Amino acid sequence: MAYVIAEPCIATCDTACASVCPVDCIRGPIPVDEIARIPAALRGSQLPRLQLYIDPEICICCGACQPVCPVDAIFEEQDLPESQRHYREVNARFFR
Ligand code: SF4
Ligand code: SF4
Repeated sequence: MAYVIAEPCIATCDTACASVCPVDCIRGPIPVDEIARIPAALRGSQLPRLQLYIDPEICICCGACQPVCPVDAIFEEQDLPESQRHYREVNARFFR
């Protein structure tokens, strides 16, 4: 079991979740500190489809990331809405 980052993260990607993860298992296609340096209002236009992902092999399901996400993009695997269930695989695939 792991937490999963789903669709609402795309283009918001404020990186708050990565800052609180105790096992550093939240990553993106470019370093998280680089993403954080881009002004929030420009993030969606500069990095379209950008989102972060949780490594399911490392996540310890502590839940720390979920309440800090401003757009409610983080779910426990079993709580993913039907329409976003595929994000479990999307997150896992990013780390293969
Ligand atoms: S649930 Fe905990 S370990 Fe898993 S990604 Fe969130 S903060 Fe990291
Ligand atoms: S999951 Fe939420 S807190 Fe984490 S980067 Fe995406 S929008 Fe930000």
